[in-house]
Amino acid sequence: MKQLEQQLIKTLREIDNKSYPLYKQLKGSYDMTGFILNIEHVQGDPFASPSMVSVEIPSVKAAFPRDLYDNEEKKVALEDQLLRLFAGELRKYSFKAKGSGKSGFMGAIMPGPEVLKRTGCEISDKGTVLVRFEVGFPANGRRIQSRELEKMLVQFVPEVVSRTLYYDRSKEKQFRKVAELAEDQKFIRCELKKRNLVAFVANGAILPRESGVSSRPMKQAVAFQSPKSLEVTLQLPNKGELKGMGIPQGITMIVGGGFHGKSTLLKALEVGVYNHIAGDGREYVITDDTAVKLRAEDGRSIQKVDISMFINNLPNGKDTTCFSTEDASGSTSQAANVVEAMEAGSSLFLVDEDTSATNFMVRDELMQKVVHRDMEPITPFSLRVRQLYETAQISTILVAGSSGSYFYQADHIIQMKEYQPEDITEMAKSVAQEFATIDEQVSKIALPDFSRARTWLRRIDTRDRVKMKVMGKDSISINKETIDLRYVEQLVETGQLAGLANVVWYIRTHFLSKDMSMTEAVDQIEKFLKTCGFEKICAGRVPGNLTVPRRQEIFACLNRWR
Ligand code: ADP
Ligand code: MG
Repeated sequence: MKQLEQQLIKTLREIDNKSYPLYKQLKGSYDMTGFILNIEHVQGDPFASPSMVSVEIPSVKAAFPRDLYDNEEKKVALEDQLLRLFAGELRKYSFKAKGSGKSGFMGAIMPGPEVLKRTGCEISDKGTVLVRFEVGFPANGRRIQSRELEKMLVQFVPEVVSRTLYYDRSKEKQFRKVAELAEDQKFIRCELKKRNLVAFVANGAILPRESGVSSRPMKQAVAFQSPKSLEVTLQLPNKGELKGMGIPQGITMIVGGGFHGKSTLLKALEVGVYNHIAGDGREYVITDDTAVKLRAEDGRSIQKVDISMFINNLPNGKDTTCFSTEDASGSTSQAANVVEAMEAGSSLFLVDEDTSATNFMVRDELMQKVVHRDMEPITPFSLRVRQLYETAQISTILVAGSSGSYFYQADHIIQMKEYQPEDITEMAKSVAQEFATIDEQVSKIALPDFSRARTWLRRIDTRDRVKMKVMGKDSISINKETIDLRYVEQLVETGQLAGLANVVWYIRTHFLSKDMSMTEAVDQIEKFLKTCGFEKICAGRVPGNLTVPRRQEIFACLNRWR
């Protein structure tokens, strides 16, 4: 039942100066002429998490032309843009109303450079715009200051809404650009598949960031320029002709001296699984969106993973076809990361020598001569990388600054020289030829078997409220159990971790009794996310700070829950 704006004002005035919990009666929906204001959850006191509020703009009022959101990519891009605008405008009003604790706070999620699906803003197929945000209901001590809240809800919010969520002709150009970029990015993703490429880096792209903690483009950076041999020309539907480096399927090695820009290129490829906003410098850096960065992760827990293609015949006789440990070593953790990424459906691995376990990556010739094969449990990645491509169609892009072992395996070798790529495949191959290698006998690859339903986690039976906490991009905690995600490097915003917390909790409380495999559980969750966002997963009460995670990160999160 919707109430009128007058009713909201009346109730507010009645509870002025009274005790804080009386704010609870505001819960409900109000018709604010032009939009609906939903007070979804009211905080318990002025120091608690702020109250959850949303605005809903009917399509006639929002009036965004249908062709700005008539496919999934454009819709996500428009939602993303509206959230940016709304959050930026709302921020100006934060703490304009006064009081104790979080009184007067107003905030929506301000996205980073990635364009992602979030609960902060959702457009329905009919064109209704929904934006969720937080409001700190004002108090003086624990006494309600409802005149202040009246200002916030009856004056500030409508101002922000009318400035950012109503379409008019003057905004045509800005929104058109967003839709066109989304369309071009979608086109590049399709083109990758058609041309058997795994990634595209446009000429002119700016890859490095301002600093290690910033996501803004570096000023005065050297712009990317593809080597001629790898250059492809795309005809984008909106931008028109765009040239850049196409990285073909197979095995690609990125070499070069220290500080010449290898890791920077790989980093750009890692986040190229997501689209970026105009002006980011990486808006035309597009990677196969199933790509997974693989690294060593000492200390992680591993549960029942078949790592036998890399590790066998352990001296303690431990079975590596169903390997578990609470404290993995560098090489076992990286082996598990590979196998789990395969289960998550990845068709491109990204590896940087800097963050890999040396003994997992290579075994050099001298070592092969001194320590006999039978005494070494590890079959290094260098001896499996080609088999992975040939038997499982998984490509690899690998940064190597110090080891030449991969020259023999690579289809393409790119050298970074003063931040510019050069195709040195032929030269490197011919030099490699001159080096005699021991032909190490590699056993045939046995692909891990994922079909058996894994009893991977205990089901949790509870109707109790769950306590979830997100610690930045590092970890989540669910009822005091911590899931460490620090080394899941393709998580780019806190909202993804908040989204993951809800997703894995749902899986663990709803799915595990049915003898479901992890793949089936994640398939089901993705179906929910696609059809109704977080509505089902959050049982109706959807907070405004969730980002839809990728399939690969859902697996990663489940796999790290001890
Ligand atoms: P590598 O992995 O080859 O050792 P990095 O990728 O870590 O090198 O880059 C070394 C430094 O150079 C970093 O500080 C990075 O920000 C900077 N850098 C990388 N690419 C560029 C570029 N295109 N223009 C200017 N500076 C760059
Ligand atoms: Mg590096």
